[in-house]
Amino acid sequence: MTDRVIHPAKPLDVGIVGGGMAGLYAGLLLQKHGHRVRIFEGTDRVGGRVYTHYFTQEQDQFFEAGAMRLPQSGFQTYTFDLIDWLRQFRLPKDRKIKLIPYILSAPGNRLYVNGVRGDGYQVTSTTPASINWEVPDEYKNKTAGELLKTAIGPLIEMLEDDFDQGFRELVERYDNFSFRFYLVSVIGWPTSVIDFVETVASQTNQFALSVPEMVMQNMEFNTEDWFTIEHGMSRLPSAMSYLLGYRNITYGARVTGVRNEDNGNVAITAVGYNGRIEAKFDRVILAIPPAALKMIADRPRWSIPKELAIRSMHFEALYKMGLRFKTRFWERVGPKSMRGGQSTTDLPIRWIVYPSNGIGGDGPGVLLVYAWMTDATTWLPLTPTERRSLALFCLARMYNGEVDTKTKKEIDVYDLLIGSSDAVWSAKTSTGDAMFLPGQFNSRFEPGRKPEGNIFFAGEHLSRHHTWISGALESAHQAVRDMIGDVPPLGPPVGQHSDQPPQIDPKLPPTNIELNYGAPILLGSRGDDATPKVEYRFTPHEPLFRIGQGWPVYEGSTAPAFPLHLGGDARHPIGVELTDLAGPGACE
Ligand SMILES: Cc1cc2nc3c(=O)[nH]c(=O)nc-3n(C[C@H](O)[C@H](O)[C@H](O)COP(=O)(O)OP(=O)(O)OC[C@H]3O[C@@H](n4cnc5c(N)ncnc54)[C@H](O)[C@@H]3O)c2cc1C
Repeated sequence: MTDRVIHPAKPLDVGIVGGGMAGLYAGLLLQKHGHRVRIFEGTDRVGGRVYTHYFTQEQDQFFEAGAMRLPQSGFQTYTFDLIDWLRQFRLPKDRKIKLIPYILSAPGNRLYVNGVRGDGYQVTSTTPASINWEVPDEYKNKTAGELLKTAIGPLIEMLEDDFDQGFRELVERYDNFSFRFYLVSVIGWPTSVIDFVETVASQTNQFALSVPEMVMQNMEFNTEDWFTIEHGMSRLPSAMSYLLGYRNITYGARVTGVRNEDNGNVAITAVGYNGRIEAKFDRVILAIPPAALKMIADRPRWSIPKELAIRSMHFEALYKMGLRFKTRFWERVGPKSMRGGQSTTDLPIRWIVYPSNGIGGDGPGVLLVYAWMTDATTWLPLTPTERRSLALFCLARMYNGEVDTKTKKEIDVYDLLIGSSDAVWSAKTSTGDAMFLPGQFNSRFEPGRKPEGNIFFAGEHLSRHHTWISGALESAHQAVRDMIGDVPPLGPPVGQHSDQPPQIDPKLPPTNIELNYGAPILLGSRGDDATPKVEYRFTPHEPLFRIGQGWPVYEGSTAPAFPLHLGGDARHPIGVELTDLAGPGACE
């Protein structure tokens, strides 16, 4: 992006907005190169769209409300290298990371489309004839996979020899085309064939996305080996935040203002229920989705292309519900049992994902329903109980009346349900995932990534591999390179070398400092090395608020550090909210 090689002589104080994967990665990378960071996170937790919901603390009783699987492809090395890097440190037991295989597709997975039941293991082996889908005769016996390969295969080949060059050509030639338009006008498919392939191999309206977007998505899913994290994906951000240092993150702090100052500093305002912080940094990284950035009204107006990128970069809705049942009945339905993978249906639930953790377990188990795009949006207006009823109705269609080979009882999903929890991502500013419309790689991508003075930008949407954790990490690496020069990404130890473990927080003593309600207080200044270098003021909102619990002082310094929690913002909640509902099985 930029060929500046800066390597600043003095450590920088960098403010990072957003404690998702991009913000955390940027923080660790900057710390590794000797810079000081402070992350402002609007919610009570780090991880953003990486979020494991634990129904109970017992083994495998969780569902991934956000990211759940990691393809081991050449494009995803950022994530695997990060995991190797993290594993060289001594992490607390509950933050240790172990990869286990993720099963993308398994024998027994079902297809239930157009009222016809079929085999969903090789879902792309479905033909129009097998599910009574009306198409012209010459397409009747072609599989969805064959069809898709003829259409997209040559485009994927463009990227194989030289990805950067191939991607540039792809964007030049086809970025203004929707994939549907490409299929009609270049490949010459009739609408009925396009609809068939989209229904079976994709989600509703996905072919409205741009050609490069669909090529990237198909390419990433065309991976053999997949992994997930034992005990939940949240271990990844949790390990990162541990190494970053507890005292370097302020939770419950929604950033509402970002301003460039004449001397090059960048000022930030963060608010929470407990008060407001005004702080000045040498540099700032905005590691938040464009929808969240758009809602920071108190910020400079940037160039037209930049503002357009922020306003229009397209995000699609994502919806997930985890349902906890008394048994893993889906693994015990005779020859059609499934151990991992997912079933596909045109019922509202669209995909049923069978977890890859705890396969074969005897106790309760969790499966999840997962919808993207238009299939996700349609869940939004429903109440939590309506959503749960709908999911159960669909699951009953798929399983009720079959016999559990272990209990010999008929399956009744209503009776088996212990509880559910769902994540309507698009209802909050974290939103779904970036999926570009025609023209957006061409016109929105570079302006979106471009630094503005000492303000830098990161987030999955700013990588060509967006919609993946690796994309978020790549974007953060790019933002750090733009800031301090061409440093390598976080990677596994080379030979005997291993990175020094970052300094972990000592036990933080409380202070006795009291604040006067409403009066801004200068808490730190750009001083010598012993005190925090960042100038910041805290204005409490809450008359009873005292600096105390959770408010540390730096070791060897009497100056109080930043508050660790601003209390969150009840008026403008950020981040996804999970809705938990108990089921009949919970009473037993
Ligand atoms: C349902 C779902 C399934 C997914 N599946 C996969 C998968 O299987 N594999 C995979 O690799 N990827 C998957 N992804 C994508 C992956 O989770 C994301 O690409 C990645 O986590 C995005 O990280 P980020 O840091 O860019 O953004 P986020 O995770 O959105 O982080 C942004 C952070 O900023 C905070 N924030 C927002 N506004 C403010 C503000 N004003 N002030 C302070 N803080 C603020 C938010 O609370 C959040 O913590 C999935 C995503 C979803 C939603």
